[in-house]
Amino acid sequence: MELTGWVKNYEWGKNGIHSAVAQLAMANDPDFVLKDDEPYAEMWMGTHFCGVSIVKETGETLDRVLKMELPYLFKVLSIKKALSIQVHPNKCEAERLHAERPEIYKDSNHKPEMCIALTPFLALVGFQPIDDIIDNIDEFQPLSKLIGKEAVHELHQKRDTESLKACYEILMRSNDAKIAACLKEIAKKYKKELESNELLNVFNKINADFPGDVGVLSLFFLNLIHLKPGQGIYLGANEIHAYLEGDCVECMACSDNVIRAGLTPKYKDVEQLISSVIYEGKPARCKLFMPYRIDDFVEVFAPPVDDFAVIHVAISHTVDTYKLEIQKYGSIMLTLTGKRIVKLTTKDGPKEITVSRGNIIYIPVEAAPAIEFLHTEDCGDDFSAYIATYNYFRLA
Ligand SMILES: [Zn+2]
Repeated sequence: MELTGWVKNYEWGKNGIHSAVAQLAMANDPDFVLKDDEPYAEMWMGTHFCGVSIVKETGETLDRVLKMELPYLFKVLSIKKALSIQVHPNKCEAERLHAERPEIYKDSNHKPEMCIALTPFLALVGFQPIDDIIDNIDEFQPLSKLIGKEAVHELHQKRDTESLKACYEILMRSNDAKIAACLKEIAKKYKKELESNELLNVFNKINADFPGDVGVLSLFFLNLIHLKPGQGIYLGANEIHAYLEGDCVECMACSDNVIRAGLTPKYKDVEQLISSVIYEGKPARCKLFMPYRIDDFVEVFAPPVDDFAVIHVAISHTVDTYKLEIQKYGSIMLTLTGKRIVKLTTKDGPKEITVSRGNIIYIPVEAAPAIEFLHTEDCGDDFSAYIATYNYFRLA
C-alpha cells in the first residue's frame, strides 16, 4: 500500500522548499500545495491518532485498513528553530501523567525515540561529565552567581549526581528576571569564552530565537552533538534532550508524550522534568547510537526496546538486484533518493511497486521472508530508504 504522511506545520519547522518535510510531501503527492512562508516541521507515518497516514488508493486511514495500531511512529523532522528541552516519560509515569492530565499527556504510552540525521544535525543530549559542567560554571560567572555559592560549592566538593541535580533544579526554578539578566551578561561579556568553547554561534542563535529562556543556559550543562547524515542518537526514557537544527528521520514508540521545560512556547512542566530526568554525566561521544551492519547495503538501528527499529537500505545504482530479508511484522518504508522496483508478496499475490524520493509504502506481514529491490532503466542516484519496523532484531 502506498501512503501519504501527515504534515505538521509547527512554527519551529523550516520554511517552504527548504524543509525536507515539504520536499518529501511534494514528491509524494503532486497535489500538495507548497507555501513559501509556511513552516513544515514534521511528517508522521503510522497510526497515531494525532496524525494517521492515509492509504493513497482508497483514501482510508491506515489504522482502519490494518484494523490495528502499529507499535511505532515514524517521522521526518525539519528544524529551523530549537525544539524544547524535553524528556519522555517511562511507561509507568506515562500512565500516571495521562490519567492525571490527559489534556497535556495525550496517551499512556512511553516514547523512547531514535533520531537519524538526513542533513548536518545539531542536538543537546544528556548531561556533560560533571567535571566539564563545573568548568563551565566556573568560567561563566553569571551562571555561577545565578545558581548560588552554596550549591556550586557542594558540586565542587561532591561531584556527584545529587549535587548536579541540586544545581540544575536551582537553575530551572530561577525567576525569569534573574535568568534574563544572566543571559544578557553572558551575551555581552563572555563572547571570547563562548567562542573558545565553540558555543558562540549556537548561543547567539537560540538566545535570539528564545530571548530570556532558561533553556539557553542548558548549553552549559548538556552535551552539544553534531550529527553527520546517517548518524543517529537514541533517547531512552527520561534522557534530557533538545533538537536544535537540521533534518532527520525519527522513529519512536507510538506516543506523543513530551515533558517540556524550556525553548518552547508550549506548556512547560518544569517540576515534572526535574523530578524525572536522569542526572548522569557522560561524554558526548557516548551518545552516538551505533547501528550494526547486516551486509554492504543494510544497517540496522535497533534500540533496547521492543517497540521499533530502523533499517537503512543504501543500494548503489550499479547493483542489479538486492534481496532484503525481513520478518513477519508490518513495516513502513520511506524512500529518500534513487529509484527501484520493489517486488513483494501481498495477500493478493506478488506485486511490483516503483519507488522513488518521497514514496512511502506499507510492507505487509505477508511480504516476509524477503522483499526484492530491482534495478530500473532510469534509476538515477544510488538508492536510499529508511524502514521503520517492530524491533524483531532483539529476538535474534
Ligand atoms: Zn524527544
